[in-house]
Amino acid sequence: MFGNTTIGIDLGTANILVYSKSKGIILNEPSVVALDTKSKQVLAIGQEAKEMIGKTPASIVAVRPMRDGVIADFDLTSGLLREIMRRITKESGTSFRKPNVVVCTPTGATTVERRAIQDAVQSMGAKSVVLIEEPVAAAIGADLPVDEPIANVIVDIGGGTSEIAIISYGGVVSSTSIRTGGDHIDDEIVQYIRKNYNVLIGEATAERVKMELGYAPIAHTEIHADIRGRDLLTGLPKTITVSSTEIQAAIEETLNKILEAIRTTLEQCPAELSGDIVDRGIVLSGGGSLIHGFKDWLIELIDVPVHMAPNPMESVAVGTGRSLEYIEKLNKTLK
Ligand code: ADP
Ligand code: MG
Repeated sequence: MFGNTTIGIDLGTANILVYSKSKGIILNEPSVVALDTKSKQVLAIGQEAKEMIGKTPASIVAVRPMRDGVIADFDLTSGLLREIMRRITKESGTSFRKPNVVVCTPTGATTVERRAIQDAVQSMGAKSVVLIEEPVAAAIGADLPVDEPIANVIVDIGGGTSEIAIISYGGVVSSTSIRTGGDHIDDEIVQYIRKNYNVLIGEATAERVKMELGYAPIAHTEIHADIRGRDLLTGLPKTITVSSTEIQAAIEETLNKILEAIRTTLEQCPAELSGDIVDRGIVLSGGGSLIHGFKDWLIELIDVPVHMAPNPMESVAVGTGRSLEYIEKLNKTLK
């Protein structure tokens, strides 16, 4: 089972990444599908489809089939997966024929959906398919020693959800998952601009504003940006200038929810592992953790060290791809 090429697929709600041990990250695309509304034919996936969101004529829709951390549309999710598998087996030539595949599914996926994803990948030419829990994958990808009897705390902030987990000796000791992530920060920005400027902006614009002007509640040098939307009074396009201080206030509530979830998980930690956490702290991964000042803000408010994973957006994919080694190692130790 371990002789063949192993690839890891991070089926994220915002981004899908594929990692191969020999080649590193071989695919990184937004989890978006564009389809013809009449024929239901998939027209594009990934970046190409993401650029169509909010801009398509009535005959085409661009959707995120795994929004909010759950599989909202299973057929589209498997269509997306099929296209991903096709690309990686085709573009990489013979080396990826019959790979062993490890898939990390969204946390909110049901048992039935997980099983269906496993079957779907299997039927697309995998030799074997194993599923892995997202926090364990993120921790492995962040180079944490998850196979040792040490408390490893991983905080993964994705598009639809945030997961906080304490992992020790290969398994999740305790965890919290909340339906709050980067997408909700985008929503808060859309609502703030509508309420305060009477201007409607699209979700792609909101995401750009977040990346540029979004700060966790810490002191920073204010910056400004021009953003374009539709004036709700006149119906015409309008450009407004917003500041990072405004956006910072607009997104604070969502960030506080994540902070509370981290605190709750740390409080649930078994006494024997608390000492490790005080020494080793927590590690952040996922695109949502890239909000400006997020790490420094957490350092101010929780009493343990806070570290950033080496490549926060790639941790889950890398960990998924490497997980078989750990599973093998743990199995050996247990025997
Ligand atoms: P998922 O695991 O759900 O696919 P990701 O870990 O890929 O999610 O993270 C996606 C989220 O991270 C999105 O909400 C995206 O807007 C956000 N994000 C990506 N880069 C940044 C950045 N530089 N600053 C703030 N948020 C970011
Ligand atoms: Mg993720």
